[in-house]
Amino acid sequence: MTTLPVALTLNAGSSSLKFSLFDISAAPAQMAIGLVENIGGQPRLKADLGDTLARVERELPPHEAADHIGALATVLDLLRAAFADAKASVVGHRVVHGGPLHAEPIVVTEPVLAELRRLSPFAPIHQPHNIAGIEAARAAFPDALQVACFDTAFHRHHPKANDVFALPREYYDRGIRRYGFHGLSYEYISGELKRIAPQIHAGRVVVAHLGNGASMCGILGGRSVASTMGFTALDGLPMGTRCGQVDPGVIFYMVQQEGRTIDEVRDIFYTKSGLLGLSGISNDMRVLEGAGVPEANEAIDYFVFRIRRELGGLAAALGGLDALVFCGGIGENSRKIRRRICDGLDWIGLELDHDRNDSNARVISTDFSRARIMVIPTNEEIVIARAAQRLLSARQDAAS
Ligand code: ADP
Repeated sequence: MTTLPVALTLNAGSSSLKFSLFDISAAPAQMAIGLVENIGGQPRLKADLGDTLARVERELPPHEAADHIGALATVLDLLRAAFADAKASVVGHRVVHGGPLHAEPIVVTEPVLAELRRLSPFAPIHQPHNIAGIEAARAAFPDALQVACFDTAFHRHHPKANDVFALPREYYDRGIRRYGFHGLSYEYISGELKRIAPQIHAGRVVVAHLGNGASMCGILGGRSVASTMGFTALDGLPMGTRCGQVDPGVIFYMVQQEGRTIDEVRDIFYTKSGLLGLSGISNDMRVLEGAGVPEANEAIDYFVFRIRRELGGLAAALGGLDALVFCGGIGENSRKIRRRICDGLDWIGLELDHDRNDSNARVISTDFSRARIMVIPTNEEIVIARAAQRLLSARQDAAS
């Protein structure tokens, strides 16, 4: 029996493990995708196994996914049953923080893992889970190459002025910088633009990644120039439950005047704010759009206002605008939000075609719009799979 070379990609969150399986015998082709959610609680497994078993969705006994190692074991049982002739020669991991040095994906070795652990304080909500995913995969596939792909990497060429905070100089050297995140998504969109619209790719593009996490990035000639996210994935736009930009003075007030602990403040900023906090109803844009009550509308108003404001700032950083690209769950699906963002932006060269927008077309600007407006579904998994394949063949070439 021949074995099929495959890449497994893993994206480990605080209580979830997303996975994809790619055939890498040629350009990576997705064979399966899914996730285990609610790890440590009442876990659920959801998977789409392509042609083999189609869709799987079931609750798991809690002991089967009490942690990421258990969740990965469950995923592997499923994948082995569905793809008996597949052999994972490489596992690609989404890792939120690569620190100031890593502008490219990297093979995970012991020293690299130690470095990623040292970066955990920079992303305490995400990095430990990403590391748990790597450790679980190393235990399950001792012979496979492990590759880390960083959400910060795409932004590592920011000009220094876009990389600093105006804090005492030594803080920059200690790593307190505007890292930017969602880099795998921006890399995918930039690559797609190069393929389908090379002239736009060569120009000034703002990408709005609007999902549960949300950020925007100014890209010049395929390189990130500025991002709305900064030191952590908390800054910039309001998100599902994260506040986005706030005056740091609010933290002092909550601690000194309200007597809150720093952990309480962190919890408010990360999990009780954003769309959920402002509306008091939900972090889910679909729910807010359907709610029709003032609190939900106010949350949407603020979301749209911040996006329009950041668009102006990023266009200024780029010296103009050739395209605005929407992606992420909200950007790809919500016609109403796209319309509210784009209406009245002719002054910056953006003219929305409402029919194209309503039909979720790829280009949703009019033929006369000076700058193009596009919707491109993002695909972070394939960026990881391509990197995994690339580093695996480099390793094989070096060994032969
Ligand atoms: P994540 O950052 O977790 O990957 P997604 O990119 O999947 O998140 O985006 C989730 C968000 O997209 C949710 O707020 C959800 O309500 C929103 N969304 C998905 N489909 C629609 C839709 N048809 N209309 C409005 N919002 C949508």
